[in-house]
Amino acid sequence: GPAEAPRVVVNAHGLPYLDSSLSTAQRVDDLLGRMTLQEKVGQMAQAERLGLSTPQQITDLGLGSVLSGGGSTPAANTPQAWADMIDGYQREALATPLQVPLLYGADAVHGHSNVKDATIYPHNIGLGATRNPALVEKVGEETASETRTTGVNWAFAPCLCVARDERWGRTYESFGEDPALVSSFSKASIEGLQGSDPADKSGADEVLASAKHWAGDGGTTYDQSVAGTGGYPIDQGITNVPSQDVFEKLYATPYVPAIQAGVGSIMPSYSALSVDGSTPVRMTEEPLNQSLLKDRMGFDGFLISDYQAIDKLPGGTYAQKAVRAVTTGSIDMAMAPYNFGDFITAIVDGVNAGQVPQARVDDAVRRILTQKFELGLFEHPFTDDSQRDQFGGAAHRATAAQAAAESQVLLKNTGGALPLRKTGKLYVAGSNADDLGNQTGGWTITWQGQSGTHTTGTTILDGIEAAAPGLSVTYSKTASADPTGYDAGLVVVGETPYAEGQGDVGNNGHTLNLTAADKKAVDTVCAAIPTCVVLVVSGRPMMLGDVQDEADAIVAGFLPGTEGEGVASVLLGDTPFTGRLPLTWSKSVDQLPINVGDTSYDPAWAYGWGLRTDAPRDRLTALVGTLTGEPKKAVQALLDAKVWKADGTLSDTDAGLRLVAAAAKTLTQATKAQVDAYGIDEAQQHPIDATVLAQADTVVSLARDLAQDAVVGQGSSPAKADVTATADAEHLQEAGDAYDAVVTLA
Ligand code: BGC
Repeated sequence: GPAEAPRVVVNAHGLPYLDSSLSTAQRVDDLLGRMTLQEKVGQMAQAERLGLSTPQQITDLGLGSVLSGGGSTPAANTPQAWADMIDGYQREALATPLQVPLLYGADAVHGHSNVKDATIYPHNIGLGATRNPALVEKVGEETASETRTTGVNWAFAPCLCVARDERWGRTYESFGEDPALVSSFSKASIEGLQGSDPADKSGADEVLASAKHWAGDGGTTYDQSVAGTGGYPIDQGITNVPSQDVFEKLYATPYVPAIQAGVGSIMPSYSALSVDGSTPVRMTEEPLNQSLLKDRMGFDGFLISDYQAIDKLPGGTYAQKAVRAVTTGSIDMAMAPYNFGDFITAIVDGVNAGQVPQARVDDAVRRILTQKFELGLFEHPFTDDSQRDQFGGAAHRATAAQAAAESQVLLKNTGGALPLRKTGKLYVAGSNADDLGNQTGGWTITWQGQSGTHTTGTTILDGIEAAAPGLSVTYSKTASADPTGYDAGLVVVGETPYAEGQGDVGNNGHTLNLTAADKKAVDTVCAAIPTCVVLVVSGRPMMLGDVQDEADAIVAGFLPGTEGEGVASVLLGDTPFTGRLPLTWSKSVDQLPINVGDTSYDPAWAYGWGLRTDAPRDRLTALVGTLTGEPKKAVQALLDAKVWKADGTLSDTDAGLRLVAAAAKTLTQATKAQVDAYGIDEAQQHPIDATVLAQADTVVSLARDLAQDAVVGQGSSPAKADVTATADAEHLQEAGDAYDAVVTLA
């Protein structure tokens, strides 16, 4: 525990709700029965710590929660300073008559990302590229451990947004553009943060999760009410859908496995929903929160508004907006950073005036208290620092490095340019080769993030130098040093950090083009050095233009986090490339929005694309152990067949292809039923099985790769183009076509 034991005696009264041998439901009932209206509504209010005029407001108003918004860190941004600060607030909460402990929330969105020296994992877009839910679960557990050791018991994560247009500034917070892909990470990310038993989230590596932003945040289009946005989709805009069915399939389904995993809180989106041209309604007061999310989908945690979201509602006084948010069942707790007092007054008055049903308040408070009991806060309200030695430690950084490595997507690799050789000379250039801040992106230490060295970690350049001591490396950010005479060149280009609407294209000068300096560095290096590799470190696809032809190899690196050594290990061939695009990489902004399944679909690189450098047989060997039944038989038959060369590639391509295709078909059939016509009701009965999805994906992509190899071997390039086109458009729903193409070729 903290160095000095807090002088608060918990359970001084010996009351039933403080008796941990009773069930949570009994304890909640008992506590609720003892609360005044004022105390109940206090539980529904969350203050920003900077909004507290004095910590004693927590006691005086009986606040349910306090948050640190992005960058709202204590002056000394260390785990101990956080713990001391939060324990101080907790003492204020425990000084109330009923001693109800406080929830403390922060945006731990890729690691405990507000805290200096925390382990920073890739942003979700990179995790989506790994196609590895087990790894995402581990990332969640480690994040929870680093979070809880600072006294924060609530992470505003994961973002289950489905990013449909990368001009949206929050694209990197999304696992991808396909609801099935996002769904495949829902359970893993929730169980990683909360643990696998939602009724007991009291562990040192468990926190309350908050899936966000329910729902449609990644599908916003131009908001007429916001001037000067040039018609681009904007954060907090309007999500227009032709029908509720489409809304459910695209945006709501990823919440189904999250609810089944017991997610304790969900954050409604700032955005508004318009169905078939109806008047847009902001999710902060959208009746679907009650009728769909709570009633039909069975969500029994609580809804926390987004930051000042009630203030942003159109029409009426603040009090009227607060009443609307609560009575529609949309909000159980208000993130009311500075006006928590006004919120409490509005709801108390609303109940007294008969505008807010008492039962609605009881329902909200019941949901909130349930989470507090399940977090074990009544027994252990103060910081659990038992895993403090893990914070930012080697084990967590190793996981982050692995995640960074698995998130790298090899888009192009002509003449075996990658992996880089570990001997000879390497010329490194570009804005993101040696910039920890740029590779960690937004939501890192500060809300917006910042370029430069602002925390502990290794840059990509550091990683290369450490892993290849025999390589002679010259680094020249702008490629001003003479590049001639080098064996290989690596230009790391990309974006600088941003967060939320600040990153919307069209806002703050954001475009999806490379900067002039980066483009010049690529031109210089590719003209002078025979082997030219371009790595794009960005939160979203960038428009590469002629760089696509200039470079021999191109890698999508996304925002890999603090462990640049993970990226280096892939570039240098110590780890194979296995990542696959979590979203479509377009040729130009004119194509946007572009998503897999679109009728005319001709991107630079399709959703799911990713060249691999591990041997096909190794991929199958890793896969077969996780399979059962028919899929296992099919993959095993392929492994057993006499079609393999010593290096793990196919020797007899014809026989091999037939077996690969058969395995692909079997696995695809196992997932097709779930993915086809996927709606809330089907999803509740058959939630997408992340493992099966990843397996089908692996075999189908293997089929594609092998077909390509085979065709290249036969020197038949038009046929190769055919297969590539089919396989590029490959998606589980179209996997049958890929299979047919493979069989036809074989
Ligand atoms: C963001 C949320 C975040 C909250 C608290 C809001 O502006 O939209 O994602 O959890 O701030 O920092």
